[in-house]
Amino acid sequence: MIGAPIEIVTVNDNFASIASAVGGDLVNVQSLVHGSRDMHNIQPKPSMVVKVRSADVLIRLGMSQDAWVDGLIQVARNPRLFYNASGYLDASQRIKKLEVPTEDIDGSQGDIHQEGNPHYWLNPLNGIIIANHIRDQLITIDPTHQASYKKNAQAFQETMTKKMVGWTQKMASVQSSNFLSYHKVWAYFFDAFRLNDAGTLELFPGVPPTIKHIDQLKTTMKRSAQPTIVLTARFYPRKVGESFANDTDATFLHLSTDVGASGIETYAGLFDYLIEEITR
Ligand SMILES: [Zn+2]
Repeated sequence: MIGAPIEIVTVNDNFASIASAVGGDLVNVQSLVHGSRDMHNIQPKPSMVVKVRSADVLIRLGMSQDAWVDGLIQVARNPRLFYNASGYLDASQRIKKLEVPTEDIDGSQGDIHQEGNPHYWLNPLNGIIIANHIRDQLITIDPTHQASYKKNAQAFQETMTKKMVGWTQKMASVQSSNFLSYHKVWAYFFDAFRLNDAGTLELFPGVPPTIKHIDQLKTTMKRSAQPTIVLTARFYPRKVGESFANDTDATFLHLSTDVGASGIETYAGLFDYLIEEITR
């Protein structure tokens, strides 16, 4: 039996914000991880087991990025959250994935994006896909309130669609810039706003920068007639990106990528923040 409100546990505050928007007063949402953290390296904690044990719905990142969640589900022994049970929600399921490897991965090109790029919440339109996924699953477990879930998801979609127009207009000012990042965190963001992805300081996802690789990138950026923006997620080292930017006369940005960090309170607020910082 599902209680009221429905207890939703999410892996991060991004999904928590979307789930709150869709569930409204009918749900109580808690996140396992707060703020801008490297989702590739999360250590499960006993307090997480407590949350997972009493959850009706668990919203996870998927794409083999959160094996720690499998451990939590097992330890918590909550059958509502077992794979493909009514409370199991892999938010990546309906996302059109970017950078899916076409060949077998042998580890030489990095091994942490083995099912494609998992940083998919950084395209605001993917937020709509996730919201509709949450709507459908809430309707399955709580059909009595389906009108509310539909209405809330529709409102979320309208807000995001409207905001997307403004964000896209603002981003026109950096349309010709070269965007460099430390890690391939921004692939979906670049895709959403049609930005020029000029590469990463990391050699491959999860493989640290080498001097040779950095020097080659510097040469390429110095030759370019367009301005360069080094866009680095907060949880990656500041120093490498900053010194790269200094040496190439580029702009250096060290930004949060998640709700719950830098005063970002909602999923839409995440993009307000990012676009304000990038176009400032
Ligand atoms: Zn990654």
